[in-house]
Amino acid sequence: MADAYVPKPVAPMMPRTLFNEDHEAFRATARRFFETEIAPYHEKWEEQQHLDRDLWNKAGELGMLCPTMPEEYGGSGVDRLYSMIMMEEQARVGDSASGFSLHSDIVANYILNFGNDDQKKNWLPKMASGEAVTAIAMTEPGTGSDLQRIKTTAKLEGDHYVVNGSKIFITNGYLCDMAVVAVKTGDASQGAQSVSLMIIEADRDGFTKGKPLKKVGMKGQDTCELFFDNVKVPKENLLGAEGMGFIMLMKELAWERMMIAIICASGAEFALATTVEYVKEREAFGKPVAAFQNTRFKLAEMRSEIQIARTYVDKCMELVLENALTPEAACAAKYWVSDLLSKVVDECVQLHGGYGYMLEYPIARAYIDTRANRIYGGTNEIMKELISRSL
Ligand SMILES: Cc1cc2nc3c(=O)[nH]c(=O)nc-3n(C[C@H](O)[C@H](O)[C@H](O)COP(=O)(O)OP(=O)(O)OC[C@H]3O[C@@H](n4cnc5c(N)ncnc54)[C@H](O)[C@@H]3O)c2cc1C
Repeated sequence: MADAYVPKPVAPMMPRTLFNEDHEAFRATARRFFETEIAPYHEKWEEQQHLDRDLWNKAGELGMLCPTMPEEYGGSGVDRLYSMIMMEEQARVGDSASGFSLHSDIVANYILNFGNDDQKKNWLPKMASGEAVTAIAMTEPGTGSDLQRIKTTAKLEGDHYVVNGSKIFITNGYLCDMAVVAVKTGDASQGAQSVSLMIIEADRDGFTKGKPLKKVGMKGQDTCELFFDNVKVPKENLLGAEGMGFIMLMKELAWERMMIAIICASGAEFALATTVEYVKEREAFGKPVAAFQNTRFKLAEMRSEIQIARTYVDKCMELVLENALTPEAACAAKYWVSDLLSKVVDECVQLHGGYGYMLEYPIARAYIDTRANRIYGGTNEIMKELISRSL
């Protein structure tokens, strides 16, 4: 198995102040995990379009899943900087396949924040150990940004709901054992007030999965369609109360947007680091590409802008820890840093010349892998719409 390629990091221009010794000890474990268990197998996952199922169990054994969940539910009860470290280490090896953060830092939070005691006891320990892989299913073929127009219905019949509809672009969908699904309960014509969230186990009759979708990039990440055909779901599987779906989604959105900003800031650092190495090696007209003024200025611009992104993201994380991050600050982080990442990766491809277009080079993979950041988690246009409403 080939060793993981990890470029030498470009030193930050400003010291980072977020992490203590315990965080750094966790980073060392996460780093080993991504270098030994993830990076060498990336190509295999790209071919099969999903991770190996047992990797989830391995990740669980090593404490890499759901670290922020309370210990009584199988987690380590630590702060969200541990989640940030997982995402940074994932980006450091150029991994676009694993969907751990969606499972650990989105789905688990819905269960913890809105689930009842039985739901928490039933799901969180299994999620932390990797026994259960989970997904969040909101987007439908007919609607993504405008979530209140979802058409999947859950009709109450006695002691259970009957769910009909379908979801698309669902991360971890193919391997998932359970999905938190956005459905319409009650009077479906009511828009946001009729949206509810429901835990649906993948082995229920009538719940089927499509094949992993053929994506432009992130080919190793399992992304698929989910179909619900008269799926009987016990009443007890409702998260929170009927009609509370939107309110629940709002509560965690700032954090979910920050997650994308974190991944993008680290992704941009990765792109710059691999490009600095490349341009120092590659020669043209008898000198390294790094020696041309154009190259040096491009690298200087990127290093500066990435530092500005890093500083903003780290400041936002301080506010996340204090529970004080505003929705608009999180929207700004998501849209600006994901736009920056696209710009940086594009410039870096250019500095690689033709090799930048060859998938064996990490920058070419970054080119196709990073584009989706501007689309999912709320498109960047929706981010601007939300920021503008705060003015
Ligand atoms: C790789 C990947 C993984 C994903 N994983 C998940 C997942 O795990 N779970 C899940 O539920 N979804 C997931 N999604 C779906 C993703 O969240 C949606 O694609 C996204 O929210 C956009 O919805 P849409 O595709 O329906 O685009 P649309 O809503 O149809 O938007 C099309 C275009 O119109 C623009 N637009 C829409 N409304 C406005 C407006 N009011 N003002 C200005 N412009 C507007 C959009 O910005 C976009 O440019 C994933 C998507 C991808 C690509």
